[in-house]
Amino acid sequence: MKTPSLNELSPIEPDTRLLLHEILVDNLKFDKEIISKYKVVTEFQRPSKKVLITATNLLPFYALEPKYEEIMRGDKGVRHVITDNLGRVVESFNKGELDKKAVPGTNIITSIDFDLQKYGEELMQGKKGSIVAIEPKTGEILCSISAPTYDPNVLNLDEDRSNAFDDLRDDINKTLLDRTVSAKYPPGSIFKPILSLIAFQEGITGPYKGVSCPGYYEYNTFRYKCHDHPYPSNVGIALTHSCNSYFFDMIRKTLEVNGYNKPGEGLAMLDQYLYKFGLGRKLGVDNSIESTGNIPTPSYYDRKYANEINGWKSTYVMSIGIGQGELELTTVQMANLAAIIANRGKYYTPHLVKSFSNSNMQIDPMYQQILDVGIDEEHFEPVIRGMEHVISWGTGINAKVPGVKVAGKTGTSQNPHGEDHSVFFAFAPVDDPQIAIAVYVENAGFGSDFAAPIAGLMVEKYLKKEISTYSKYKEEQVKAIQLIKVPEAELVPETEEEL
Ligand SMILES: [Zn+2]
Repeated sequence: MKTPSLNELSPIEPDTRLLLHEILVDNLKFDKEIISKYKVVTEFQRPSKKVLITATNLLPFYALEPKYEEIMRGDKGVRHVITDNLGRVVESFNKGELDKKAVPGTNIITSIDFDLQKYGEELMQGKKGSIVAIEPKTGEILCSISAPTYDPNVLNLDEDRSNAFDDLRDDINKTLLDRTVSAKYPPGSIFKPILSLIAFQEGITGPYKGVSCPGYYEYNTFRYKCHDHPYPSNVGIALTHSCNSYFFDMIRKTLEVNGYNKPGEGLAMLDQYLYKFGLGRKLGVDNSIESTGNIPTPSYYDRKYANEINGWKSTYVMSIGIGQGELELTTVQMANLAAIIANRGKYYTPHLVKSFSNSNMQIDPMYQQILDVGIDEEHFEPVIRGMEHVISWGTGINAKVPGVKVAGKTGTSQNPHGEDHSVFFAFAPVDDPQIAIAVYVENAGFGSDFAAPIAGLMVEKYLKKEISTYSKYKEEQVKAIQLIKVPEAELVPETEEEL
């Protein structure tokens, strides 16, 4: 019997899918109405092998399995049959008296917005990276896109699954990696609003203090370039133009809060906040392959600079201030940062499960608990105004959505191995946030050029349900960008004539 196509959305009776001579766990029962709105994850299991498949093929959702396996599994069905010497079924054994019907497990209804997910996958065609969007009011994950992706059909039981898996595993583009939760990236300048909030809360500096920027920042042995922009007399202007000097000054003062010789104490204080923001630890997303990302600790630098007679200094680690160095975040952590700013300091742990087909089952209480990052609400407003200006006339102008107030920040994450990575995070509408989003495009260069327009289109798609004429040109441009190089083997002419 053929394994049902993943696109078959009609209800499938469990006992029609029992494979001969096998015991099968089967909870494939699709609900058309649910699938039209959400993604349903189901499991298909044989005694020795199992593979989690998804109704829409859109997500590498196998990672949901460990947390929810028990409730999805259902009960095994068994059919005893008599076969001839060619293995063909002749009749049921003992008139089927010993047979047992399979009982479907509970379906999980995820929070994924089908249209948004599909649209994001289209935009990410030909690119490497990830998009995560969260509904700030609930912590529900609206889309979770890892590119490039693969067609789970190739892992079907009736395909050559072993070879297909080997191909995926060896793919130079790391197709099997779920970049939304497993890949760790330097956040680049999207870290600047977070640092600002912490520095304001601690009274290290204020939102209306200026920092001179002659095109570079210089402090003792440290010197780093900036670009041409208006004088950053407040945090808003500094964010709008992503001034490096402003945030180097801020990180230096943060690290040196207890003195020039005690940067470890300043870093420990910063890390405590970052931990509350969900960084350097697993957020607790219901996805088993979630990575912690990385925040550098004082002890890490103590070890790294163990040979320094007078210990390490703030100047050694200034790059943290602009989201570089050892700082690494997952995309879901970045999207959650946008949700935290949208909610002015509060958030729910991001999660994929919305409900269960069995209405008696409740989602994990941890996803209903409000968390607080410990920053007073007043500190968010100047940062959010700055992030609004980023979109209005700053580096994030490509994320503009007609008729919607968006607040965001671009980032360009330096990559010593090749082209820089393009980063952007945002939320909208500013006064009633319904979506928080992070977009990371590997090897794409400036955040303003790639990640920002993708995020803007996603926000527009989610809030307006369609793309306006104003944004259509941008959509075409984004879709036309192909950043994944075709492997050389595929460029070899197939016939002698072509040689
Ligand atoms: Zn500057």
